[in-house]
Amino acid sequence: MPSRSTALLQAAHAHPGLTRADAARLLGVGTGAATEIVARLSRASLLAEVPAAPSGARGRPTTTLVPHPQGPLVLAAAITHETWRVDVVELGGTALATEEGRHGAEWATLATTLAATVATFRDRYDGRPQALGLSVPGTVTAAARLDAATLLWHDIDLRELWPDAPVLVARNDASLAAAAESRRGAAVGAAVALHLHVEAGLGGAVVDHGTVLAGATGTAGEFGHMPFGDPAVRCPCGARGCWGTAVDGTALARLLGRPVPRDHVAYARQLIRTATEADERAAVRTVAAALGRGIAGLVNGVDADLVTLGGLGVDLLAAAGPEVEAAYRAGLMAYRRDDPPPVLPAALGDDGPVAGAAEEAWSALLLTLA
Ligand SMILES: [Zn+2]
Repeated sequence: MPSRSTALLQAAHAHPGLTRADAARLLGVGTGAATEIVARLSRASLLAEVPAAPSGARGRPTTTLVPHPQGPLVLAAAITHETWRVDVVELGGTALATEEGRHGAEWATLATTLAATVATFRDRYDGRPQALGLSVPGTVTAAARLDAATLLWHDIDLRELWPDAPVLVARNDASLAAAAESRRGAAVGAAVALHLHVEAGLGGAVVDHGTVLAGATGTAGEFGHMPFGDPAVRCPCGARGCWGTAVDGTALARLLGRPVPRDHVAYARQLIRTATEADERAAVRTVAAALGRGIAGLVNGVDADLVTLGGLGVDLLAAAGPEVEAAYRAGLMAYRRDDPPPVLPAALGDDGPVAGAAEEAWSALLLTLA
């Protein structure tokens, strides 16, 4: 159980604009105790108060809890296949600054750039950054070592980006996007949320009451490699019939009898958005149905009450929502069909992974502060 100080910081982080009176109610403590905890956190430069707007309710005026101007910050970094980005994030999730750029898939060069950016931000913010959250396009071990097969990065030590970081959290981008949707996006309030990100692969995560299901070795969420696809199709992973091969650009090219383009993600995005020929529209509908059918299988299996889609999933929902929905409903067990868990576009879009990196870093950091 977190201490009441930690719980109050967690509440102020989760609910920006929270008043001291609301915090007292959330924590189940009296107003006197809340005032005392806030005073202690304020003396420790962890939280500050500003007068709250009058609520019209009876009782003494309260205050709004805000980040302390000298308080801790986290650095949230997101690495994609082509780009990098580092945000400085204060309590409550607001980004104060961002640096970003492109990289040429050479780890040593990228690591130098990222380490320099981390050092610059620590300097610019007078040492206030105390944690680093990292979103990466690959799998991460408990010892923060990264494997990103498509970038040819193997056994990379992510700690070199900030060797003496008080807190370092590194996770797969799809898991972090899922965490962000549950904390700040379309899945806030869901008991068990399923997030799926369709891009070069199909990944995601199950978030169980706010906790991302990481798996025994930290690599859960490879939903694209469940055999919901055509058993005649071999997946680059070595298996046959992987779901991912039925919902991506390779599936569209195959359905149209065309060669698979090198950048099949850009190809799929373009085709889904602009399909005009009858055969192209039919291919998009087929892929949309394959997505909906697989979602039904997952919802039946994990009993999610809400599903969010990112990446090409958003494009498929926009272009062929009825086909996604029809296949989804047809695949749901009958008792779920009266009230099917909603399938929604992710609210945070491309910001999901970096927002998730900030959330996971804050979650870990808050446990160490108060
Ligand atoms: Zn596979």
